[in-house]
Amino acid sequence: QYPTEPPDCLVDFPVQFAISWMPQNSLIDIYNQFLAALESLKEFWDAMDEIDGKTWVLEPENPTRSATARRIAIGNNVSVNIEVDPQHPNMLPECYFLGADHVVNPLRIKLNNNMHLWDPEISLLQNLKDLLEIDFPSRAVLEKSDFAKDCGICYAYRLAGATPDQVCDDPRCGQPFHQACLYEWLQGLPSSRQSFNVIFGECPYCNK
Ligand SMILES: [Zn+2]
Ligand SMILES: [Zn+2]
Repeated sequence: QYPTEPPDCLVDFPVQFAISWMPQNSLIDIYNQFLAALESLKEFWDAMDEIDGKTWVLEPENPTRSATARRIAIGNNVSVNIEVDPQHPNMLPECYFLGADHVVNPLRIKLNNNMHLWDPEISLLQNLKDLLEIDFPSRAVLEKSDFAKDCGICYAYRLAGATPDQVCDDPRCGQPFHQACLYEWLQGLPSSRQSFNVIFGECPYCNK
């Protein structure tokens, strides 16, 4: 249908690449639109590159240029998942904490109390540090500490695409588990009890 319809263009963008096209246009016009789109996404990629370079990103393992989410390790087996708006990378992203309640709750409170400190003039990573009043440790530092990211039951990190997102609530334990592994484990224990679709039971690590 060319030249009535533009050629299909595959791009690794976090947003749709919509081409404005007229039958008399050429590939150069597409290329120029592509350059303009690259320019408009520069701020987003700069923000994500800073996070990828200065923190330990657990998820995704090898972020593509279109990936808008990052799960960043904080320590104490806690991580934060952020979802960044590619069109507004300097706005407060959606934050979701994973980890034991006693570590995660103070972070949630800090985030809520410090939200007004968010400054669109400084980088996304620096804003996150300021709001949460933490420094994101590097991978080297966390790997030397007792940061455990593998599941305490199957000893793997990835299980059918899932990562360990359930954490023991005991402050001294905090061992992460895959939801599926933990569910299966707890179902096999006579001391476990189930309420609706939540199951409670002893941690395979510390028996709490
Ligand atoms: Zn597992
Ligand atoms: Zn435990």
